[in-house]
This record gives sequence, structure tokens and C-alpha cells, in this order.
Amino acid sequence: MKQTVIVLGSTGSIGKQTLDVLQMHRDRFTLLGISADRDSDTLRAQAAAWKPKFVACRAKADPAMYPAGSELLTGDDASERLAAIPCDIVVLAISGYAALRPLLAAISNGKRIAIANKESLVCGGDLVKRALKRYGAELTPIDSEQSALFQCLQNGRRSEVKRLLLTASGGPFFRRTREELKNVTMEEVLHHPTWNMGRKITLDSATLFNKGLEVIEAARLFDFGAHQIGVLIHPQSIVHSMVEYDDGSIIANLAVPDMRLPIQYALTYPERIASLAKPLDLASAHDLEFYTADPERFIALRLAFDALRTEGGCPIVFNGANERAAELYFSGVIDFTDIERCVADALEAYQPRTIDSVETIAEVDAWSRAFVSERILSQ
Ligand code: MG
Repeated sequence: MKQTVIVLGSTGSIGKQTLDVLQMHRDRFTLLGISADRDSDTLRAQAAAWKPKFVACRAKADPAMYPAGSELLTGDDASERLAAIPCDIVVLAISGYAALRPLLAAISNGKRIAIANKESLVCGGDLVKRALKRYGAELTPIDSEQSALFQCLQNGRRSEVKRLLLTASGGPFFRRTREELKNVTMEEVLHHPTWNMGRKITLDSATLFNKGLEVIEAARLFDFGAHQIGVLIHPQSIVHSMVEYDDGSIIANLAVPDMRLPIQYALTYPERIASLAKPLDLASAHDLEFYTADPERFIALRLAFDALRTEGGCPIVFNGANERAAELYFSGVIDFTDIERCVADALEAYQPRTIDSVETIAEVDAWSRAFVSERILSQ
């Protein structure tokens, strides 16, 4: 029996690569549904090629432009409605906080969710954890670092784990001083040395907010505290992350930086089958470097660890303020180094509170975005 797959965010970088993986393994998977935010050109092309049963688009869409056999869902909650349709696997490749409600809808399906979105886990916290337990759903990580940890954690007992060691490429600027960062151009920001990704995550990789989000994401996925998570700068992106055990052994996951590999593993786990990724030639990958990630130099990391330790909605502020600051950066309103200042100020001004519902999460998220907007406008 083929497994049915719904891909939320099919027009983004991860979404497209997921379709490549599904294409290679058409004997195992059937694409049941796809969704997009507003890239209707790509969505239409995907719908024409795959003829899925469901197509969801947040923006207005003309049903005549889609295959006759596909049911079209539109509106703000289109992805959420698609996520609730029974299937075997939901791939969550929507970017940003907007993935939270679709994630909760997918969990209520009680099946596997191959998750590439980190913001929904960072913000959803305990709410997501409780929902997973209630519906018996399973998360398999797509994010390369989390996939690596997921694989390395299969090598020992949880109680024997000393630390999760996340690797960070450091982005394009990790060798620059704070002073030099002031003058970086958007072109430099959007040119990641090892990964080819969407625009927001590429910016987050340059500011290290991506790694900050991943620190919190790892805590959520694997249930470890801030004191058991470390970050190492590893510019080559060959070692995708590691787990250090109590006996001093470190188990690492190595592979070429190709997202189609972790995407596939999240779909086929626990099985390993041939993939589109090139095999890693270790003999030619001899320069594997590792550096300490100094939290004073990488402010985003310090803020992430602080937010994780404090909880009370701080991770939601960490994410919301960063998402809003990223928008302002892309529209040319603020500079590169203003981003971390916006997030630091939002966290400083925020009063932690109990987070017990999707509505509270939405309130804190909206507060953090409004705080950043007002702070910038008042300057
Ligand atoms: Mg990652």
C-alpha cells in the first residue's frame, strides 16, 4: 500500500525538494495534497504535474486554473484545513509562525508529521507536546541538525546523554567582527556559503537567529533543557550535529549538505533507502573545522538560551520579534545589526506569563511584532 502524503508549503525550497523525493519514490508515496501561501504560479504548475486530490492556496485562486479532479481550498485557513484531511504523512514546510495552526491541525490526524518548520515548535512549546500525546501523532524532523540529533540519539539511552551538540555553519559572516557587520549588504546576506535555502532562513543563518531557533527547537523535539544543549561553529556543514554521551563518546551524523536526504529520512524512518543525495567522499572532506560559538559574539544565541531558560512566552517573543525585524530588514527599513537589537529590546520589555492556549500564543506573538514596529517607527 502506498502512503499518502500532504505537503504544506509545497512551493518553497523544502516543499519543492520534497516533491523531488516523492518523485523518486513514486512506488511508495502518493501526493494527496499541496498548499501555498501566495505563489500561485508554482502551485498551478505543481498541481498540473501531480494532479493531487487537494490543492490549498491562501491567496484568492480561480478553480478553472487547476486540474478538474483537484478540490481547491482557499482563504487564510486553507493550509490548516488541508492539514486536517486524513493521510499517512503531513510534511510541514510552511515558513514562520504561520505554521502553528496547521501543525496543530496535522497533529489531530494522529499520524506522522515530517516537520521542517521550527517556529511552530518554538512558539507551540508545551501545547504541541500535549497535543502529540493526546492524538498519538509522531514528529520526524527535517531540519538537518534535528535530523542529525534524531539519528544520533538512536545510539544510546536518553538517560546516558550528556549534551546535544548542534553545529552551525556560522553563515557568511562568522569571521567578521561586530564592527564589520554594520556594513554588510543584502546580497552578501543572501549568499549562504553551504546551503541554498529560502530568503528568511538565509537571513536567519547570517544573524544566527536560525541557530537560536534550532536550540529551542531541539529542546522541544527531544525534551532536553538549555544546560544540555551546546552549539559549535562548523563552516563546512558536513557534520550536521552530534550527541555526546556520558562515557565521553560523541556520535556524529555526516552527509553532504543536501536537504533531500533529511527530507527522505523523515518520510521513510526507520527505513533507509537510496536517495538523491551524493555520497559523502570523506577523503576529499579533510578540512573539518570546529569553533566555539561565543554567546557574546553571537547575540542571537545568547538570547535564545535566555528565552529557553525563562520560558513564560519568551521563545514566542524571540521568534515574533525576529520575524517582524526580518520583514523590516527586507523592506529596507532597518540595517542588518538592528535585527538583534530589536529582538533583545523586545525580550527585555516583555513580562513573562503563563502560556496555556493558542490564543495566548497569538497574543504574545502579536505583542512582539507590534513592539518591534513601534520601536522602529518611534526612532
Ligand atoms: Mg537547520
